[in-house]
Amino acid sequence: MPESVISRFAPSPTGRLHLGHAFSALCAHDLARAADGAFLLRIEDIDPTRCRPEHVAGIVEDLRWLGLGWDGEPVFQSQRLPLYAGALGRLKAAGLAYPCFCTRARIAAEIAASAAAPHGPDGPIYPGICRTLSEGERESRIAAGEAHAWRLDVAKAAAAAGALRWHDAAAGSVAATPEIHGDVVLARKDAPTSYHLAVTVDDAAQGVTDVVRGQDLFAATHVHRLLQALLGLPTPRYHHHRLLTGENGERLAKRAGSPTLASLRADGTDPAALVARLRAPAA
Ligand code: GLU
Repeated sequence: MPESVISRFAPSPTGRLHLGHAFSALCAHDLARAADGAFLLRIEDIDPTRCRPEHVAGIVEDLRWLGLGWDGEPVFQSQRLPLYAGALGRLKAAGLAYPCFCTRARIAAEIAASAAAPHGPDGPIYPGICRTLSEGERESRIAAGEAHAWRLDVAKAAAAAGALRWHDAAAGSVAATPEIHGDVVLARKDAPTSYHLAVTVDDAAQGVTDVVRGQDLFAATHVHRLLQALLGLPTPRYHHHRLLTGENGERLAKRAGSPTLASLRADGTDPAALVARLRAPAA
């Protein structure tokens, strides 16, 4: 019996969906439907400062307008915090996570003062200030109520996990290089988890077999692969799709002022024609 396919669309409700989201949702939807599998909707609402309930309603409305139906009830990450706390607890117990008391300003100053600050795919990486704090100092600062995030000791974690690979539909077999990101955040100061931890835990918990998302998250998969190994979770297949670009070749991102699906709908766009256009192979 062929293995069933479970894919997901996992937007963050920080604004209205735009064409790039529609393309991503469509790719994930079509992959599952072509295999008679399941397509899930997961709302990634762990950022209390940026996520809004009205944007959740907007996501549901926009997907319905596009005709992209999902299976089961949408899952909300904000309702799954104990699950992420459990995973973080295991990483702490294994000595692979440490508390980080740094402010953004402190990190920026450290990077500015360094002649050759190492850069990762998303800019300069965390310079490791809190990695070397003594156990005693960590405990007393936590006991004093000092705000802290939790970071992965990536070098130690990668050494513990050994060589890892993952599979991307376009790139083929990829060697995981999580250390390029430095000591990523596992739990933020203002949220008891992070994107990397929550997405890894949820993809496994929901039985996702195929992660479909934009090429902009390709490098993040190195971290997810490492977390899977550390937490004993299965590794899905990855499909990092191309990013839509505008007429000038620039990436169509929220910031570039690309039209939202809501505005296209208000302008009388035919959703079936839009979906057909998005399905057409890139020129
Ligand atoms: N929540 C992420 C976003 O909206 C996507 C996460 C993923 O697909 O892994 O960019």
